[in-house]
Amino acid sequence: MTTHPHSLPCSLLAAAVGLALSPSAAPAAEPSRYADETAPGLPSFEVRAYQDAPSSMPVSLFHNPDGEMPAATAPGGFPASCNVFLVLVKPSEPLVAPRRQPRATPGARILVDTGNGLPRGALLERLRADGFAPDTITDVLLTHLHPDHIGGLFDADGNAVFPSATIHFRNVPPDGAAFAARCRAAGYDQLDAFADPAAAVLPAGFTCIAAAGHTPEHIFFRLGRFTFAGDILHAASLQLDHPEFCARWDAAPAQAIAVRTAEFARCRATPDALLCCAHAPFPGILRLAPAPKPSAP
Ligand SMILES: [Zn+2]
Repeated sequence: MTTHPHSLPCSLLAAAVGLALSPSAAPAAEPSRYADETAPGLPSFEVRAYQDAPSSMPVSLFHNPDGEMPAATAPGGFPASCNVFLVLVKPSEPLVAPRRQPRATPGARILVDTGNGLPRGALLERLRADGFAPDTITDVLLTHLHPDHIGGLFDADGNAVFPSATIHFRNVPPDGAAFAARCRAAGYDQLDAFADPAAAVLPAGFTCIAAAGHTPEHIFFRLGRFTFAGDILHAASLQLDHPEFCARWDAAPAQAIAVRTAEFARCRATPDALLCCAHAPFPGILRLAPAPKPSAP
């Protein structure tokens, strides 16, 4: 990413857009919905966001490469959330996914991450309230293997919460093998474990993008204009303007900064791109304002 001339402050307004329900008018328990998404080569689908748990991020969690904390003050911490996304493929849609092995995806119900699990996480209760029994979830895509993303896969006894689902994840050290064993012990017998994101064959035409930095296995999933970006950020109100700040959970800070900076730039340069973030304030679906154009010579 190039630096904008004149060092203009980058006012990168991120906004939750297209919601059927405004956050101020509805409790967080209400899912937000993007209905009837279509894109060339993809089945029609709908995206819903659920809040698994409320959250805020203390300023002291964040540092830049010089070891400095943010100058911004945020009493009570930066606003955040733990969000989970559900992608519903329309039941009657044939799958057209060029270059990819066809999978039986019409009617697929695809979760991206699963939140904390009980007792902290509300995902299961909110899915049920929205009409989705856990055994009707067909696929789970995992952005990475941190507890607030995989916790919802397992009940208090370690058994599968979504027993019909295929679990898609990137199996690399240090955590991949142990996670696969935990899934098998829970009763998940359909594991799609891949090392190379570019070679992943995913339902409904999803593609997978390497995004190591937050963790070694961290990946993004893309479907049409939606990019499900896991833990690309932990404090949207800080990091959208200052991607050089990392939360302490970013395992490889320089790599995380590079991934974050590149994806923000891609979103700003791509009309209608939506960035779905696990920890942006609910519903966590952001449209980034375009970067200001350089002034004419
Ligand atoms: Zn994480």
